[in-house]
Amino acid sequence: MAKIIKVLKGTKDILPQEAEMWHKLEKNALEIFTKYGYKEIRTPIFEMTELFARGVGDTTDIVNKEMYTFEKSERSLTLRPENTAGVVRSFIENGMARLSAPVKLWYKGPMFRYERPQAGRQRQFHQVGVEMFGIKEPSADAEVIVMATEYLKSLGLNDLEVEINSLGCPTCREEYKKRIKEVLKPEFENLCEDCQNRYEKNPLRLLDCKVESCKEIFSKPEIQKVIQSDFICEECAEHYKTLKSYLDKLNVKYVENKLLVRGLDYYNRTVFEIKSNNLGSQNAVCGGGRYDSLVRNLGGEDTPAVGWAMGMERLNSLLPEIEPQKLDGYVVSNSPADAFLFAQELRAKGYNVEFDLANKKFTKQLEKASKCAKYALILGEDEIKSGTVSVKNLETSEQVTINRNEIEL
Ligand code: ATP
Ligand code: MG
Repeated sequence: MAKIIKVLKGTKDILPQEAEMWHKLEKNALEIFTKYGYKEIRTPIFEMTELFARGVGDTTDIVNKEMYTFEKSERSLTLRPENTAGVVRSFIENGMARLSAPVKLWYKGPMFRYERPQAGRQRQFHQVGVEMFGIKEPSADAEVIVMATEYLKSLGLNDLEVEINSLGCPTCREEYKKRIKEVLKPEFENLCEDCQNRYEKNPLRLLDCKVESCKEIFSKPEIQKVIQSDFICEECAEHYKTLKSYLDKLNVKYVENKLLVRGLDYYNRTVFEIKSNNLGSQNAVCGGGRYDSLVRNLGGEDTPAVGWAMGMERLNSLLPEIEPQKLDGYVVSNSPADAFLFAQELRAKGYNVEFDLANKKFTKQLEKASKCAKYALILGEDEIKSGTVSVKNLETSEQVTINRNEIEL
């Protein structure tokens, strides 16, 4: 026998019995985001490597360790690890800055990151996400957050925790970074290797470290004092305060978390995550924030923006399984041609119908019908002669014979 080829580590088939769940995630996304004025955008799965190096940031784990990069025609290309950079590229390239603000876009699709596969972490996974361009006011931040919670509620996920923080602007953050570095300096040797590497380039990212010994260091009182201090400037504080007052009025429950800094370089002011207690250590289903300088950094005009992305596999693992849908009818007959034509008639009317393509025995066909359909549609000799069909309700076993063109399932 020929050698069997298996699916790659960190990737998964989405099997037919799971597809209904995915349809629900996608259908609810389309419905809810459309209500808020979002339009779908589909960008390519691979882009120039430079887009992600500049767009995600070269101090991030994504760019440093996790990208699937390859050469083709002497150009370096990368499978998208996230979709904000691609959406921003498209926004600039297609002149969307000229449209009246806000420009609201949503996407869904596969992302690729070379990470250690584990529960809740794959190398090909899917995200659904939104980006809003052109509005600097905190109403935009509040709208994307409340829309995320509405989407989660529509899936039956009511008990998730929204965490928020403000990273300030590049100016006020500079001072904060300096203070964090200062207070951590005596501990430098005790920090993990990743933190030591980030200390100079991206000191805020240290706060996000999941290594126990680092967490212990950050919990020391003198370090906590700096972390918990209100460093953001007046304008950023006002923005944050207004966001919180919107969330209060909209009944969005949130927790403020000063350690929430997010992995990506481009965020300023608002950052947020939505977490579940039922997901173990990979507990974030949604991450997002404001990125007012990204459009400019990628060559466009100064355009404020805010958005988020959700991990669809993590959403899926929180949802109860859906019962597979039954066919409306299964045609049972000893005459395959009659069964075929009747099935076509019903399909044309919009019903989901099958018949036995292999022309098995009548009793086998009935057995099959009772497993997969709501009604058995029996075309025996009498029915064929008289243009009727016997419709058997497979739940109640009730059976009636009616004219074929009167059928309603
Ligand atoms: P994490 O802290 O879990 O690594 P992240 O900050 O890298 O998340 P984002 O880039 O913000 O994640 O992506 C948004 C969402 O995408 C996450 O909250 C998560 O639900 C999902 N996600 C990210 N990486 C993976 C992965 N490797 N496998 C499955 N889902 C993922
Ligand atoms: Mg990650």
